[in-house]
Amino acid sequence: MSQTTSNQQLLADVLPFSSLAELRQKVDEMKQSVDSLGTVFQQVKALMYIGGLIGRWKAMTCKSNLNGFCTGWRIPNEIVFDVKKNFGENSIVEKDGTFRFNVANTALVCAICPLYSPKS
Ligand code: SF4
Repeated sequence: MSQTTSNQQLLADVLPFSSLAELRQKVDEMKQSVDSLGTVFQQVKALMYIGGLIGRWKAMTCKSNLNGFCTGWRIPNEIVFDVKKNFGENSIVEKDGTFRFNVANTALVCAICPLYSPKS
C-alpha cells in the first residue's frame, strides 16, 4: 500500500531492490525444484506403467497363478489391510483360510516377484 507524507511526496511501500532480487532468486530456485519434481513424477509414472505391463504378462504366464489367484505367496493377516489400502479392496482374497493375491489387481507385485516361474 502506498503512503503520502505531509508534503505529499509519494513513498513506495515495497521491498528494497536487493530484497526483491533475493526473493526473485528464491522463486526461481523453487520453480526449478518443482520442475525437477515434475520430471521425477513423470518418470515414476512411466515406470509404474511399464511395471504394470510386465506384471500382467508375468501373472498370465506364471505357474503359481491358479484361476487368477497366486498360490506362491501366503499373505499374513497383519499386512492384509495395508495391501488392500494400496492396491484396492479386490487385491486380496481369502481361499481356504489363506489370504492370496488376486493377480488381476496386483500386477506390480508380479512385476517384482522373485517366485515367478513360467508355466510349462
Ligand atoms: S509372479 Fe509371483 S506374485 Fe505373480 S502369480 Fe507368480 S508367484 Fe504369484
